Amino acid sequence: TEALLDVQDLKKYFPIRRGVLQRVVGQVRAVDGITFSVMPGETLGVVGESGCGKSTMARTILRLLEPTSGKVEFEGKNVVGLSKNEMRAMRREMQIVFQDPYASLNPRYTIGKTLLEPMEIHHLHTASARKQRVADLLDRVGLDPDYTNRFAHEFSGGQRQRIGIARALTVNPKLLILDEPVAALDVSVQSQVLNLLKDLQDDLDLTYIFVAHDLSVVRYISDRVLVLYLGHMAELADADEVFADPLHPYTRALLSAVPVTDPDQKRERIILKGDLPSPANPPAGCPFHTRCPAAMEICSKQVPAWQEAKPGHLVACHLYQ
Ligand code: SF4
Ligand code: MG
Repeated sequence: TEALLDVQDLKKYFPIRRGVLQRVVGQVRAVDGITFSVMPGETLGVVGESGCGKSTMARTILRLLEPTSGKVEFEGKNVVGLSKNEMRAMRREMQIVFQDPYASLNPRYTIGKTLLEPMEIHHLHTASARKQRVADLLDRVGLDPDYTNRFAHEFSGGQRQRIGIARALTVNPKLLILDEPVAALDVSVQSQVLNLLKDLQDDLDLTYIFVAHDLSVVRYISDRVLVLYLGHMAELADADEVFADPLHPYTRALLSAVPVTDPDQKRERIILKGDLPSPANPPAGCPFHTRCPAAMEICSKQVPAWQEAKPGHLVACHLYQ
């Protein structure tokens, strides 16, 4: 089968401007060369600490932010360079769900209007069919279809995220980019929303990119996991493989912080020294070398190649070259 989404060497740099003339004095390399593909029906988890570029990557794929360079092919069609109208049509296929459903729901809109709007924008269905679809979707995400006349503030965080998911589904997308969709929710509510996402994926043949900083959440939902550090790819493998045999020292450090119930799986906690470097002034060589417990001389001089260390298990680290 062909990939649904193919991202090649994607970069997003933000200019840094100073002074009254707002001269460009530098750039923040938020996403600095990311390449991966997502197969139909798959869930790709994308993890890394805040500032690793994962949310910028998500927005750049959808062109909510313009990519600096690179390719984003959806079903073989490069979305970079599409006109506004073509991009609007493409957004039917690719929808995003944000971390904070409250910020992304218009407080002056009823839930009914919130869910009707995307279908109106895309001229989908007749008015009565839209209304029916709103009721069906509310029911499908576990909410009372009679809620259509209420406002977002009348709902709990978990309910609001269900509304956010329902809204994304109104236009019948193939790909959902979920940007930390459960990070703001209580743990008990998190698992309900994750289970809902799993059910919806099976029922509606959805493909997910699931962005998170919480590795246990990612493990639960992902088929494969991509680990990002400072806008760069550190490691990519099947989810089970990443947890069973993490190769990159950064992945190992992230995993060592995940609480485990099985004492046999207990790992020694690896505390990283120093802070995340600024993406405006990234380290030379391996971007992780300033904090890596395994750093060698070559690491500050040469960028490690992205390569297959084991079948299907990719890593950027001089330890495996
Ligand atoms: Fe650490 Fe060097 Fe590997 Fe980078 S390349 S992760 S600094 S060992
Ligand atoms: Mg799945």
